[in-house]
Amino acid sequence: MATSAATGSLPSYLVPPSASRRRRAHRIRASTTSVEGAMDVVSEAELREKGFMGMRKTKLVCTVGPACLDALPALARGGMGVARVNLCHGGRDWHRAAMTEVRRLNEEEGFCVSLMVDTEGSQLLVADHGGPASVKAEDCSEWLFTSKKTDKARPFTMHVNFDKFSEGILVGDELVVDGGMATFEVTEKIGNDLRCKCADPGLLLPRAKLSFWRDGKLIERNFGLPTLSAKDWADIEFGITEGVDCIALSFVKDANDIKDLKTYLSRRSLEHIKIFAKIESLEALKNLKEIIEASDGVMVARGDLGVQVPLEQIPAIQEAIVELCRNLNKPVIVASQLLESMVEYPTPTRAEVADVCEAVRQYADAIMLSAESAVGAFPEKALSVLRTASERMESWSREENMQRFLPQHQLAIALPDRISEQICSSAVEMANNLAVDVIFVYTKHGHMASLLSRNRPNPPIFAFTDNASSRKSMNLYWGVIPLQLPLSNSMDDNFNNAIRLMKSKGGSVKPGDSVLVVADSDLNQPCGATSVYQSIQVRLVY
Ligand code: PGA
Ligand code: MN
Repeated sequence: MATSAATGSLPSYLVPPSASRRRRAHRIRASTTSVEGAMDVVSEAELREKGFMGMRKTKLVCTVGPACLDALPALARGGMGVARVNLCHGGRDWHRAAMTEVRRLNEEEGFCVSLMVDTEGSQLLVADHGGPASVKAEDCSEWLFTSKKTDKARPFTMHVNFDKFSEGILVGDELVVDGGMATFEVTEKIGNDLRCKCADPGLLLPRAKLSFWRDGKLIERNFGLPTLSAKDWADIEFGITEGVDCIALSFVKDANDIKDLKTYLSRRSLEHIKIFAKIESLEALKNLKEIIEASDGVMVARGDLGVQVPLEQIPAIQEAIVELCRNLNKPVIVASQLLESMVEYPTPTRAEVADVCEAVRQYADAIMLSAESAVGAFPEKALSVLRTASERMESWSREENMQRFLPQHQLAIALPDRISEQICSSAVEMANNLAVDVIFVYTKHGHMASLLSRNRPNPPIFAFTDNASSRKSMNLYWGVIPLQLPLSNSMDDNFNNAIRLMKSKGGSVKPGDSVLVVADSDLNQPCGATSVYQSIQVRLVY
């Protein structure tokens, strides 16, 4: 890194970004020239303003909710790559309206935003006090936790959503609300109900999550409920009809949860829908590697994880999951409470910005807004904080790590797959050493693009595919800009068509630009062709 001592100038972390300090979204100006193929308007604007090396690598996911339906166009302009509809909240009509709007933005306004639905899952041990806002639990106050429903809210009573919630719980156990918002001691068991005394006062929010602890350890109970309830299956059906690109599976327990859903989708020829496993329980942590291997991607769901795991363990768990996912070549989203204070306030806390930057430094593929965009007062501002913080952190860590290559485990066993891996690792080493402007990859299903992304190269990866679903699935790969292009057997044609497409995008590529080109083996090759067709080339634009 250039330092003030060496250069007499400001240290790089104090130098303002090359373009003006941009808090606003890019100025979107769709190009008018008609060339076969498509590049989304956000990448086009970003490339025009910042050049190849200035393009953002970390992907941004926004949970859409009542607060941001009208703001969806602005969020798309602001860099939302994936719109997540959380089926835990809101009704069908609303979910449908949000997804229709995202599709309209893609079809009519040149965006490329993927759609994710997130299942409710068996959200056990969720409790309400009957009111819409928070209620304070005072020190030593006595409360009843019951699964019996009443018409009217009763004072000092929390209604729990599961009949057997108190099974295995003893007097003296600790009941923790929302990972520490308030703590109670169980003082009496009355049938299935629990009478509790507040030991650590705090707030009880609607849909508060409960956990029970004994001798400082979580009391794990297996109620034998399926990961996907009847409602979840109906929700998944609904998502399929709406043409979603991926499904996030809540409270995954083991790899079978993922495999079952994948089998279901493949029987219906819906393999293009990607399955993301949400890691949000102790059980999922115990089966972590097999879950990641079975999934198409992972979400570090820090919200619910923090109900089952002491909070001080979450940062290390996050880092380990992000690292494991990169090694296993699965995209990973870091989620929940990144900018929680922005639900209410227009600026984040400094600690929140540090948290965002840490996820970017760890090379997470994507970071996510939950309540900040779904129900918060400042969805666009929250997104712009994610965008500017990640751009800044990326350029800083690029300067720091210019010549460092990330260690990779060999994934594949079969020779053709090992060749793909080696080609992509070597391609990234070459791209960094030669300081090329951009990497092009021609890919049917996005696999080569993911293998390039896994090495986290300095230049951006422009991934050209002729398959609309593959394009959408690459939206969660770090550093990959997915583009649509008709693909041919001739590498010359592919390269020239790609350059023609780029040139039509406001002069975003110019003579002298250097491109490292990687071609996929299964690209239009007859069945059974071997991977000798995979190649690395370095080309100059003329
Ligand atoms: P949720 O999942 O937003 O559906 O609760 C994320 C989390 O638990 O962190
Ligand atoms: Mn959750």
